[in-house]
Amino acid sequence: MPASLLVRQARLPGHDDLQDVLVRDGRIAAIGTSVAAPRPDVLDDVPVEDVAGALVLPGLIDAHCHVDKTLWGGPWVPHAAGPRLVDRIANERDRRTDLGLPSPEHAADLLRHMATLGTTRVRTHTDVDPALGLAGIESVAKAADAVRGLVDVEQVAFPQDGVIRRPGTLELLEAALDAGATTLGGIDPAGVDDDPLGQLDALFEIAARRGAGIDIHLHDTGSLGAWQFGLVARRTVAFGLQGKVALSHADALGTVPEDERFRLIDLLAESGVAVITAAVYDVPVPSVRDLAERGVTLACGSDGIRDLWGPYGNGDMIERAMHVAYRNGLRRDEDIALALDCATTGAAHLLGLDSYGLVPGAPGDLVVVPARTVAEAVVARPTRSLVVKDGHVIARHGELVHPTHLEFPS
Ligand SMILES: [Zn+2]
Repeated sequence: MPASLLVRQARLPGHDDLQDVLVRDGRIAAIGTSVAAPRPDVLDDVPVEDVAGALVLPGLIDAHCHVDKTLWGGPWVPHAAGPRLVDRIANERDRRTDLGLPSPEHAADLLRHMATLGTTRVRTHTDVDPALGLAGIESVAKAADAVRGLVDVEQVAFPQDGVIRRPGTLELLEAALDAGATTLGGIDPAGVDDDPLGQLDALFEIAARRGAGIDIHLHDTGSLGAWQFGLVARRTVAFGLQGKVALSHADALGTVPEDERFRLIDLLAESGVAVITAAVYDVPVPSVRDLAERGVTLACGSDGIRDLWGPYGNGDMIERAMHVAYRNGLRRDEDIALALDCATTGAAHLLGLDSYGLVPGAPGDLVVVPARTVAEAVVARPTRSLVVKDGHVIARHGELVHPTHLEFPS
């Protein structure tokens, strides 16, 4: 049930004076230096939160995570996989069932934690393969139900172990769309599947026929990765899917010579293909400034969070923006703000949200950060003092608010 709330004395990016933000029935109704005047009586029934000059941002978006894989809330599991991508895939296949994965409880625990950090929307890649079938999709759907009203969750059906080399996966990916996934995933059409045309032709055919989006993990580096940018861009235009296709990681952008990098970025911009980065470990990161300047949609996400792929990650999208900024060598305030854009406006654009941000009509999803500027917030990453979802206060000082309008199944 959407609610109303007046947030007073908010420091908003781009405004010199402190502002009031009025949320009515779950949507931002007005922003101004004094939205209560001249008719304070009309706000009599609206709860007020005075944030005393703290920074207010729109609800954060994690555009790429894997909540079906997380061990969050369970015992500590030491990392045991070998060093290569194929080692990690094999290790996960061997151990996930014994560890009770996929687990709706772990996924919901993590999503609740993300809510306390100001994340109000998540796009998560869920493993779909012949061994699991759609169990992961169903598990994440259960977790999404458990956190309804805190975080909105959408799923990418993700073929972690390949598409063409694992017969039956393609049919399961399409079945996942019937089970609620909105987007088809892919993975290194060359490097993992060894059949780039086969994987891409199959994914684009289904996406075009079903009106789904596509989001491909592309770790392939150098000229092999760059060549696949062209394959994806041409199919995006040919199938009319501009604005609905993304490359996650897109490692090639960080591993080709500069002139080739600019050619690839222009190709992405012209074909309406977005990039999603996580800036994890030592993987190459795309240049935030180059992508922004040349008009490519750039979002970011946590990728794996405390799972069989690695022990790191905590679901904090302000910390993720710090990693993106740090790995890009960004120091100026306006550049650091570009990194946070990946978790706000860039991610909203990627997800095709109709309205988003600190503007009238946008959802009443807000996060209050005790900082004076966006750059200070990203650098200091302080505990969020308040998180608001659909006009409801859902968290204070890093803890979910109890009781709220919601039941919290455990
Ligand atoms: Zn991923």
